[in-house]
Amino acid sequence: MDADDSRAPKGSLRKFLEHLSGAGKAIGVLTSGGDAQGMNAAVRAVVRMGIYVGAKVYFIYEGYQGMVDGGSNIAEADWESVSSILQVGGTIIGSARCQAFRTREGRLKAACNLLQRGITNLCVIGGDGSLTGANLFRKEWSGLLEELARNGQIDKEAVQKYAYLNVVGMVGSIDNDFCGTDMTIGTDSALHRIIEVVDAIMTTAQSHQRTFVLEVMGRHCGYLALVSALACGADWVFLPESPPEEGWEEQMCVKLSEVMRVPWPLIAVVAMFLS
Ligand code: ADP
Repeated sequence: MDADDSRAPKGSLRKFLEHLSGAGKAIGVLTSGGDAQGMNAAVRAVVRMGIYVGAKVYFIYEGYQGMVDGGSNIAEADWESVSSILQVGGTIIGSARCQAFRTREGRLKAACNLLQRGITNLCVIGGDGSLTGANLFRKEWSGLLEELARNGQIDKEAVQKYAYLNVVGMVGSIDNDFCGTDMTIGTDSALHRIIEVVDAIMTTAQSHQRTFVLEVMGRHCGYLALVSALACGADWVFLPESPPEEGWEEQMCVKLSEVMRVPWPLIAVVAMFLS
């Protein structure tokens, strides 16, 4: 890429990147588990930065399933293949839940498929489960290579050449449930969407003096319930981390009745977690 290329990073970023070289390296990028708004932006960043530093970047379609199945599920990406996806929800390379990757046999197949393309750098964009799987894969890597060599699927040279698997995990999860990250990819958009819905039902709640129970996303993590309850001024919130005490039903009815009695009724929205 020459100095006048408009694609080239500018200023201090450019200086930082001067010393990075991806020449001769291959990076695989995949999105796994539940989709989250922002995954496409993360895929785009991996592809473009990888290409900028001279590496080959491969899309791995359908999460770990694509890695286990191989073939056309692992395809080289180019600069244009990630054009116009920054603002698009979901993930253009697909996401899936893959039972086979939970088994050593499945991971052995995945390792073989990566080695066929010389991929020893993985960027996994996913949640808790996906990154747990990635870490296990990294730990097992040398054992998997030895097993492939014993099976005659790769030679001894390949075992040495591809001895290390580098993994970068990007937390794509609307739940904001990963330690070490201020906010995970997708959380902010999910909150935004919840508040849009609350705004839409507020007028009906006010007009009919109704109480609405709102169930939000989050599975075992109450972050979205808590923050959306704060943002919309909910009168009651249930959180998985803080289950209600005995007798909560009565307390809640009293509280909501009080709210309904004021001359201009307040909205009693309950941000609620259900598994
Ligand atoms: P998320 O990444 O959103 O938490 P899941 O928990 O469903 O979603 O995990 C996504 C995929 O990651 C699973 O379908 C499986 O292929 C892989 N995975 C999850 N946990 C493990 C594990 N302990 N070992 C190996 N693979 C795992």
